[in-house]
Amino acid sequence: MSAHNGSLESIKNEVIHCVLCGLSTTRTNAVPGSGSITRKIILIGEAPGKNEDETGSPFVGSAGKILDQALICARIERKEIYITNVVKCRPPNNRVPTEEEIGICTSEYLKKEIDIILPKIICILGATALKSLLGLKYMTTYRGKIVNRPPLKYFITYHPAATIYNNKLKQIFFEDIQKLAKIVNAQDQTMDKFFPT
Ligand code: SF4
Repeated sequence: MSAHNGSLESIKNEVIHCVLCGLSTTRTNAVPGSGSITRKIILIGEAPGKNEDETGSPFVGSAGKILDQALICARIERKEIYITNVVKCRPPNNRVPTEEEIGICTSEYLKKEIDIILPKIICILGATALKSLLGLKYMTTYRGKIVNRPPLKYFITYHPAATIYNNKLKQIFFEDIQKLAKIVNAQDQTMDKFFPT
């Protein structure tokens, strides 16, 4: 195991036992980030839902299935990317996490996950992640676009849960994930050109 994966492993263990905010009292399981640093891509959603709370794994319910389909269409291997949430425990009745919960959880875990992975790109899934990470409010303004906050680069799209009952949004989401793949592939090709193996 690499040092990076080792550090992620220790964050995972801390998350599993975390009681730093009130969500620890209502969750079934905390849901740490999951995946690998191979492609240096991080996808960040809002919070675990019912299925995630039951299993302890991120994006395994209906929204996760849509995400899986979009990744397959874009030829991105889920096992090569890292998927996590702004908060790691399910808010009761899937309410939006509070600013306090977001503040505690991101400074304790999400920021460390980003520092360890040093991603080429962070894909923000949905309005809560957009506001929490970038302080930006309007999904419609930023969706499908890149926001540069050096040294980090963000790509913005919908949360897949928002597309479950809306085929038009689902199609846009699929197109956005394909766009993400193109951005990352173009970056990889540039790196190959300057640093051939
Ligand atoms: S939401 Fe985050 S800070 Fe709150 S208990 Fe869960 S892991 Fe800890």
